Parts: sequence; structure tokens; C-alpha cells
Amino acid sequence: MTDEAPLLDVRGLVKHYPITEGFWNREAGRVRAVDGIDLSVERGEIVALVGESGCGKSTAARATLRIDEPTAGTVRFDGDDVTAYDRRQLKRFRRRAQLVFQDPDSSFDPRLSIGQSVAEPLTVHGMADRARRRRLVEGTLERVGLAASDADRYPHELSGGEKQRAALARALVTDPDLLIADEPVSALDMSVQADVLDLLTRLRDELGLGVLLVTHDLSIVRAFCDRVCVMYLGEIVESGPAEAVFDDPRHPYTRALSASVPVPDPRAPRPAADLVGDVPDAAAPPSGCRFHTRCPEVIPPADYDLEADGWRRLLRFRLRLSGQSSDVDTATATEFTDGIDGDGGDHDTPSATLRSEFDLPMRLSDDGANRILDEALESLAAGEREAASELLETEFQTVCERESPPSRSDAPDREASCHRLRDEYEAKPDEYEVH
Ligand code: SF4
Repeated sequence: MTDEAPLLDVRGLVKHYPITEGFWNREAGRVRAVDGIDLSVERGEIVALVGESGCGKSTAARATLRIDEPTAGTVRFDGDDVTAYDRRQLKRFRRRAQLVFQDPDSSFDPRLSIGQSVAEPLTVHGMADRARRRRLVEGTLERVGLAASDADRYPHELSGGEKQRAALARALVTDPDLLIADEPVSALDMSVQADVLDLLTRLRDELGLGVLLVTHDLSIVRAFCDRVCVMYLGEIVESGPAEAVFDDPRHPYTRALSASVPVPDPRAPRPAADLVGDVPDAAAPPSGCRFHTRCPEVIPPADYDLEADGWRRLLRFRLRLSGQSSDVDTATATEFTDGIDGDGGDHDTPSATLRSEFDLPMRLSDDGANRILDEALESLAAGEREAASELLETEFQTVCERESPPSRSDAPDREASCHRLRDEYEAKPDEYEVH
């Protein structure tokens, strides 16, 4: 880090999409795709913006470049406020900050030669001299590892890797300072992915290029990125130097994502990988910590001594009962009582039948909690779903759904937002590790 202003400095960036209804297009809600994120990219640095699909990464990239106008927040580029730019300034900015798309196939017009496509940004920015355009195009194609003569080929004549190199050439031909690359290798074979990422790191080193790499693939982050920002449902939940975040993730979401990355030693202890379900709907994000509906480490209620696995299964059931779970379809009241016949099915009691049916522990580690669960299951078996749901919600509340965790920093350039970072909620050793 230097005292100089970062090349890109994003503060409190928000992008909401209104949901309208009726003849007058009355606003009925908002899709909170990006909800107040901060991130920065220095010159000569590759920063990864990581998260599952649907967490808002691509929207953040587009709002940063004002391809989609941000709802709120500031974007500073080289010290200037991009959000205040007029059209002319914006055009100049787009020459210095380029976007590379995921799918090289759809980013080329099949009727244009590679040379014509790569030259397009030069034409848009007013370079009328054809010979000069041709020289720049050939030089840029060579810089990305293609031949100058590839300018005369057509997209269908290029392999996927060659096309992605040509897409990079088109982004680089205006000599930008910043590249925002949205999943630039996810459509490519594994063998070609490393080549394209090597090329990006070489361009960073040779040209001092700043790169914001948008990706869902944590395995490429450690090898190719300097810093990482982990995004979940519109928010950055953890950020820091890539190696440190990878070696010692502070946020359960980062731990769950890294658990799915192959490691050289399969016997090494690894975080539990039970990240279930999909990213919830950004139009109705969960309360408190947005990750609480899927978090493998969600904090149990203080009043009960619940063992981690039993608590997670109880919470999943509770969320499913109230229709807040994203990992399974909300079951209907009939489905909940299906399978309980007059004599309790295969089990002695309706409660035991429901426990077996809905992956609940036959016995919770806390007697008081066990009694409450029995009571709720009996209500459910009697067809009183709302009463059952209310009882579980009142008794088994977690701080994770009540309070939004503030961002905490315990090392230079590292931040994470999780209640587990408070001493009183720290997980017990090995509580969430699998061997
Ligand atoms: S605050 Fe709670 S739900 Fe959110 S990540 Fe931390 S432990 Fe999980």
C-alpha cells in the first residue's frame, strides 16, 4: 500500500433494482443486489471479488464502471469522483477502465475479423488513422500471446483460449489502467485457464495494470491474486491479502467456500463444507447476518447448551417451517403431517416420526430444548403449524438473525463481519472441522 490514492476506490456502493407493480408502476420492493460495499484496487494489483453466483459480484462490477448507474455510494478513479462525471468524462474514463466479459464467444461479432473487433474501442474513441489502428491492434495481439496475423482471422477460427486472449487484447488496446474481468476464465478448459491467468499477472507486472477479477472460483484466487474481497448477498463479508485469507479465513462463508477447493494433502484438517442451499432472494435478504440461514457455524441461543450439529439441524427445520429456508422448498402443513398415521408410523410418537422425517436429532443435547422441540412437534402433528413455528422462533433465536455483525479488523488490511469474532461467541476448537 502507498500513500497515493488507490487507482480504484469504491465506498458504500449500492445498487438496488425497484420491483414495481400495478398500472402506475408503484414500487413494491427492491432487489438489493449490492448493498453498501467498499473495495479498492491499487496500481499493479489483482484484487479478487469472490462469491457464489447470485451474490451481486457482476452487478458491483457494472455499477463500478457506471454501465449500470449506482443507487448510492462513491467510486473514485485515480482520485476523481466517477459518480460525478458527465458524459464526456465518462467516455474518457471508459477508455482507462475496461471490462472483460466471461464468455468470449458472445463478445465477438462473427461477421467482423478479430482485427476489426479489437480496433473497435479505438474507433469509438475517435482514432481515425487506419494504419495507426492496425499497428496498435497487431502490437496488442502480440502482447497477449497471439500473432499479428490473427487480426485477419474470424472468431470461429479461434479456440476458446485464443478468443479470450483476443477479448483481453480488445480491452487493452486503449492502454487502460484498470481491467475489470468478470469470470474471464470460467468458460475455458482448465489447461487454458492457467495460461490466461498467467497472462493477466504478466500484464499486471509489465504494465502496472490494476485488475479487479470477479470470480466464483476460489482456487484461482490464491495463485493469481494479491487481495480478495468475499461477497455474500450484496455485502462484503471478508477482505484481506489473498494468501492470509486462504490460509486462515475469518468468516464462516469464506471457510465454507475454501472447503470446496482441492488441497494437496487430503489428510489435512479442513473446515466443514456443509454449505447447503442457494443464495437467498436479494429482494428479501435474511435479517441480521444475511448468511445465518445457511451458516454452518451459526451461533446457538444462549439459554441452551446445544451441540453444534443438533442446533444446525434444528435451525434448518425452524427456518423451513417458517418458510425462510432457501435450501429446500417450503413444505406445506399437510406434508409436515403426512406419514403420521394413527399409531405414529414407524416410531412410537408423532414427535419421533417428524424428527426422523425432517432430519432432526432423536434427542437434543439440552433437556429443556428437547422438551420445547417435542411440544412444537406435537403442535405440528395436530395441524397447528403456526403455533409450532412461533414456539420455535421464540425459544430458539440466535444473535445471528437479530444483529447485523459489524466489520472487525484484527490484522492490517484484514476485515470480516461475523459475531464469531467476538470473544463470547468464539467457536470451540475443532467444533467445525472435519478430518
Ligand atoms: S454472524 Fe453468525 S450466521 Fe453470520 S457468519 Fe457469523 S456465525 Fe455465521
